[in-house]
Amino acid sequence: MRFEFATAGRILFGEGMLAEVGTLAAGLGRRALVVTGQSVERATSLLARLDEAGVAHETFTVAHEPTVGLALEGTRRARDLGCDLVIGFGGGSALDTAKAIAALLTNPGDPYDYLEIIGRGAALTCPAAPTIAIPTTAGTGSEVTRNAVLASPEYRVKVSLRSPLMLPAIALIDPELTYSLPPDITAYTGLDALTQVIEPFVSSAANPLTDAICREGIRRAGRSLRRAFQQGDDAEARADMAFAALCGGLALANARLGVVHGFAGPFGGMFDAPHGAVCAALLPHVMAANVAALRERAPDHPALSRYDEVAQLLTGDAEATADQGVAWVCDLVTELGVPGLATYGLDETAFDALIPAAQRSSSMKGNPIALSDDELRAILERAL
Ligand code: NAD
Repeated sequence: MRFEFATAGRILFGEGMLAEVGTLAAGLGRRALVVTGQSVERATSLLARLDEAGVAHETFTVAHEPTVGLALEGTRRARDLGCDLVIGFGGGSALDTAKAIAALLTNPGDPYDYLEIIGRGAALTCPAAPTIAIPTTAGTGSEVTRNAVLASPEYRVKVSLRSPLMLPAIALIDPELTYSLPPDITAYTGLDALTQVIEPFVSSAANPLTDAICREGIRRAGRSLRRAFQQGDDAEARADMAFAALCGGLALANARLGVVHGFAGPFGGMFDAPHGAVCAALLPHVMAANVAALRERAPDHPALSRYDEVAQLLTGDAEATADQGVAWVCDLVTELGVPGLATYGLDETAFDALIPAAQRSSSMKGNPIALSDDELRAILERAL
């Protein structure tokens, strides 16, 4: 057994935990850049807590999934204002923007010096500015991951700025912040969270610590995602989903992902679509393709029994098999109203660009078995 496990410096989880943010922020800096989603009003209580604690603040809003240009703009803003602390408050878009700004604030040069795949992929050398990550969706787990996903409109792809130096100093997860999520965003982000506890569980880089985290995340998402979708103020279901999302972040940062995320990066660069909705549309078809490929080419592979276990954790039936798990996820995706990828403009003419880009992506390396271009094509056809 040999692995590394890295995460945020501190993780604080619980209803009402936002009340602690003033004291926490005052311990890290004097002037914060507060990176929010498109609604600054949702951050009113956060800003009041900073005022009480004597932490000066400026806001920077993120209205869309972030681009390299937006991260640069935020970095200039933070530098001009003399910020020594960055607080991300929102979905993965706000959190990733905050993490990228914090990294670029302290490291010289251009983002393309550091970006993977399309940039030089150089290592960051300086610790990012202290960062507090406060998620308001229950999806990405970005509060505890070491990367920030940025779109490059120039290269038509989403790629990561990645370094252990980007792990937030503090991840503060308050499930109450997710009560206001409407059903569609609950569904998309929640299915992203579910994907992020399933892919690392069957990943070639899984380890016993991430396994334990994934098992708990799969169980909680399995019992609570429908309820959070149907009844947004169900405190127990929201807490389960916030916890499952955290599990996903802990797991993906330390055990990699798989084909769903291998596709999601290039897809997000080519089409305007919410990240979680893309993952959701692909998940059951990727699970089915992986199970079929493993049975055909690696029938003794341990990932096959992992897929049985996923089914058992999701259904609560100790005898459930991988096929039942795939069917369960397929039903859930339908019930939660996830549209096919054709909704965002995907058709067969884009497959030839999408498939090689997915094969090159970093997430693909975690998939339990290498899928051929033909197998990837079949997944896309089913997800249309
Ligand atoms: P998002 O941050 O784009 O938010 C989706 C929508 O929900 C936005 O309109 C936002 O304003 C709204 N919203 C957020 N919180 C709300 C609330 N409490 N009430 C009502 N509305 C609210 O979506 P996301 O799925 O959280 O993040 C997606 C981004 O995260 C993508 O760019 C994706 O690539 C990235 N991502 C990053 C990681 C990582 O480890 N860094 C992992 C997975 C995904």
